[in-house]
Amino acid sequence: MFKRVLLAAAFVLLLFALASLYVGGVASLTDRVVHFFRPGPKMAPPGTVAVENWVLFAETEHFRYYVRSGDHIPRWAMELAEDHLNAACAALQVDFAGLIPFYKHPSQLDLYQVTGSKSTGVVVAAEGGQGSELHSVHRYDAHEVMHVLAHETLGEPPSFFDEGLATAFGWDWTPGERDVHERANLLLEQGRLVRLKRLLTNWDFRSYKTYPAYTTAGSFTKYLLAVYGPEKLSKLFELDKYSQREKIEERFATAYGESICDVEASWRMELERGALGTTSSRPASQNTNRELAITGVILLIATFVGAILFIVAGEKVADAVTRHIRALGRTVGRWLRRGARE
Ligand SMILES: [Zn+2]
Repeated sequence: MFKRVLLAAAFVLLLFALASLYVGGVASLTDRVVHFFRPGPKMAPPGTVAVENWVLFAETEHFRYYVRSGDHIPRWAMELAEDHLNAACAALQVDFAGLIPFYKHPSQLDLYQVTGSKSTGVVVAAEGGQGSELHSVHRYDAHEVMHVLAHETLGEPPSFFDEGLATAFGWDWTPGERDVHERANLLLEQGRLVRLKRLLTNWDFRSYKTYPAYTTAGSFTKYLLAVYGPEKLSKLFELDKYSQREKIEERFATAYGESICDVEASWRMELERGALGTTSSRPASQNTNRELAITGVILLIATFVGAILFIVAGEKVADAVTRHIRALGRTVGRWLRRGARE
């Protein structure tokens, strides 16, 4: 009986693995293997103190996390940060081998006292001038990570493009946030989508620093990246942060072969048509409900049929094996008895 149960369990497991592979595909399997072999966060020994009341919490492939004493960062946040960084590098076709110092502040006041910034996250030049430091009140901050990645691989362009890229990826990679095109579509309907000429220079963007400005920049930059690719976008990131509007328009026309006004018109039209729906830069990790339901039914039927077939066939095999073992036992017994008589 025990043998039967054991074999049935093994069979059910095999069916389950096959059904998962069928539904998730080979890609999901390789994804899981990659996740399994990727080095997890290296946790710092308790009581490790860095500088100025910062405790080194953990280190992953691309981040070094510092917290205030007693604070912590969950593992999922550190893993999502790595996934986001890898996807962003692939989308922008850049390599990033650096290690980002990530300072997790317990409050906005704490962040303000250290960096002088009134926002919830900011990127500042690291002490000594080597690279950048990320300061955030969040345990995971895709928006600020995009700033670091862009500055260290592409350059620091006028805020419109810099904030646009960070906003688009930031919302795509923050669980629960709505897609930037969806938000832009809503602004368009309300007549609040900003004309690009009012946002292009650093000065204009900063003086307009509002939700519509970020959303407009995010939707337009995401559109540029999706339609024209990363190479052309990188030409805009070579622009000096404080470029004048004429210079920005000129560079745009050279890189894209069209004026920014014409591309703006096409983008608005696509938004109006609802053609820019919700194409997230984050691969959908959850299957749809329908797929899940189908998987469930397949698994249930396969498991039942498999178990019945297995028990019937297994019984016969077990009987045959028992018969052979008994026959062998008798042969050995006879041989032993004969050996004892001689
Ligand atoms: Zn930003």
